[in-house]
Amino acid sequence: MRRGPRVTTEPGRLIVLSGPSGVGKDTVLHELRTLEPRLRYSVSYTTRAPRPGEVDGVAYAFIDRDRFLAMAERGEFLEWAEVHGHLYGTSEARVKEALDRGEDIVLKIDVQGAAWIRPRVDGAIFIFLLPPSEEELRRRLVGRDTEDEASRELRFRNAVAELADGAAYDHRVVNDDVGRAAHEILDIVRSRRARGTS
Ligand code: ADP
Ligand code: 5GP
Repeated sequence: MRRGPRVTTEPGRLIVLSGPSGVGKDTVLHELRTLEPRLRYSVSYTTRAPRPGEVDGVAYAFIDRDRFLAMAERGEFLEWAEVHGHLYGTSEARVKEALDRGEDIVLKIDVQGAAWIRPRVDGAIFIFLLPPSEEELRRRLVGRDTEDEASRELRFRNAVAELADGAAYDHRVVNDDVGRAAHEILDIVRSRRARGTS
């Protein structure tokens, strides 16, 4: 039998990124993945409708409520939660595959999902993205212009309440500038990897 070189794979890291709606999570994540293309992203399942420009399977896997609940029933989600009136969930299989391959993978999930994962996954890195101010957060939500007035108000009210949840995270990063915030997150992940601590 021929043997190849011995390969030891270090398990990857789970990176949990949360923050209020409109703070810039998608924007910063995009920058982060440009800076570090090896970083995987866990595409969530959701029952919310796609926004203009959102591609099924890229932004989210868009599914109906019955299918979502059937997946939850079968235990296919690492975590799931109802957020702003819609269901969102993380595929356990996809996350596990990435971690087993030694890849770092980012979950962009809400505070309920993060609270579920915290006691269950050793060594996960919890990062909370903050706006420079509440006024700037409102400006970004309005500027994004993807929600109707009622949905935007709901998101804004929830967002202000959510800011306090940042206290439970290992790291709080202010998204004052996209590039700066992405670099700060990258530094956090690299230093945790280098230390090899959980
Ligand atoms: P989230 O994913 O947290 O809901 P988005 O990434 O969709 O937020 O960003 C919301 C809006 O704020 C978008 O219009 C985006 O271009 C803008 N934005 C994101 N980060 C910044 C920043 N650092 N400075 C100014 N505008 C930003
Ligand atoms: P949006 O509809 O703006 O894309 O996301 C709304 C909220 O749902 C955000 O706080 C986002 O982090 C959260 N979210 C997205 N995917 C998931 C998921 O798989 N699980 C949980 N718990 N929250 C998610």
